[in-house]
Amino acid sequence: MKLEDVPERLPAYVYDLRGLAEHVASVRTALGPTELYYAAKANPDAEILRTVAPHVDGVEVSSGGELTHVRETLPHTPLAFGGPGKTDDELALAQRHADRIHVESPRELSRLSALGPADVLLRANLPFRTPGAALAMSGPFGMDEDALAECARRIPETGLTLRGVHAHLASGLGAPAMLDLAARIVDWALPFLKDHGVDDPEINIGGGMAVDYASPAARFDWETYGRGLPTGARLRVEPGRALTAYHGWYVTDVLDVKTTRGDTYAVLRGGTHHLRTPATKGHDHPFEVLTSDEAPTTAASLVGQLCTPKDVFATDVPVPPLAPGDIIAFTMAGAYAWNISHHDFLMHPKPTFHYLR
Ligand SMILES: *Cc1c(COP(=O)(O)O)cnc(C)c1O
Repeated sequence: MKLEDVPERLPAYVYDLRGLAEHVASVRTALGPTELYYAAKANPDAEILRTVAPHVDGVEVSSGGELTHVRETLPHTPLAFGGPGKTDDELALAQRHADRIHVESPRELSRLSALGPADVLLRANLPFRTPGAALAMSGPFGMDEDALAECARRIPETGLTLRGVHAHLASGLGAPAMLDLAARIVDWALPFLKDHGVDDPEINIGGGMAVDYASPAARFDWETYGRGLPTGARLRVEPGRALTAYHGWYVTDVLDVKTTRGDTYAVLRGGTHHLRTPATKGHDHPFEVLTSDEAPTTAASLVGQLCTPKDVFATDVPVPPLAPGDIIAFTMAGAYAWNISHHDFLMHPKPTFHYLR
């Protein structure tokens, strides 16, 4: 991010759409025959969706709101609809507009089949351990082997078409661990789908490719991943964070710098009601000081304007000397950033949005 790209009104979100398009295109190439869907919940900004769309095979949506928004923004892109706790209205919307519906329970299967025909994947909750994962997506998500078998047995009487299996089991893993997980999912899914007479089986192995906020230059190794993925099925992945995280910045300026009982704070315009990522992940959010070329000489905590001690972007991190007016760009703010934040808390102004093309 360069100083001349900084908008006049701060705080601002700045999205590098050209860089994003190049990144997603390179992921698409690395994946070879594996289909790439974008998980819209990472960042459903319409400009982001339009930038990503030409380089993906489809978009995964997880609510009626996302489905409606993505369908309006991208009228012709294939959609997969998933998520636990679907209402009847959402199922009806998905039955009309989604190309694939990921079924989460036997009861949901019955409710969906009452609405008419649809192409479904059964969401599997498989007992594979994923050491090192940031999140293990077990618990309420998907079905165990008994419930999966019950659904597969019942589908021929329902008017639904079983196309395959969906398994998003963990997030935050690197390529070798993700490949290991993919192999185990496919080894389980192929015989299961064959037993239930599925030709041309589809296996959606989910998203969750690692994004390391402590190493902003590191990237998930898509080449190794693409080369090592199993064959024998129509494979699909649906990453969100690893596609859009790197091409967004939250840019703001310093309002005050003070030292209280030995601790130095830089108080910034805005806060975690705009960029909640460090609060949810519990990390120091990576940043650059755009107005300084100096090396860090001191340490400070970067905090926002909210009246809560939780409004912290980074704690006691190395910084150059800071003064009011200095401009800070938080990097890696393109995913799970603005759209997961509690915008209305304290009624401060919203950030502005800028798109580099
Ligand atoms: C959130 C989610 C994704 C995307 O996860 P990332 O960590 O952003 O890659 C994909 N599939 C499902 C089912 C999800 O819930």
